[in-house]
Amino acid sequence: MAELIPSYFTADWRVRSLPCPCGWEGDSRGMAMELHDTVTDYACPQCGNLLMIVPHPSLDDVRRAAAEGHPEAIEQLAIIQDALQRFPASNDPAP
Ligand SMILES: [Zn+2]
Repeated sequence: MAELIPSYFTADWRVRSLPCPCGWEGDSRGMAMELHDTVTDYACPQCGNLLMIVPHPSLDDVRRAAAEGHPEAIEQLAIIQDALQRFPASNDPAP
């Protein structure tokens, strides 16, 4: 059964070691990663069994985590704010 991580900014999901029924055990760095629209799946590299689902952070999630002092969120927020200043028209529909 796959572990659903509640938030991208959950402290330890990257290093959480999960056992697979096939006998493999390891953390996200050893798993097979698959990107989707709203989540990233992590599967067993040995049998393909889905082990972990991590939601992508929304801008609000990043802001909230940054306000709580999460170092990665602060970094991401800086990048986002920089991009918004540099490309203020990016919200306009494409021609
Ligand atoms: Zn497996």
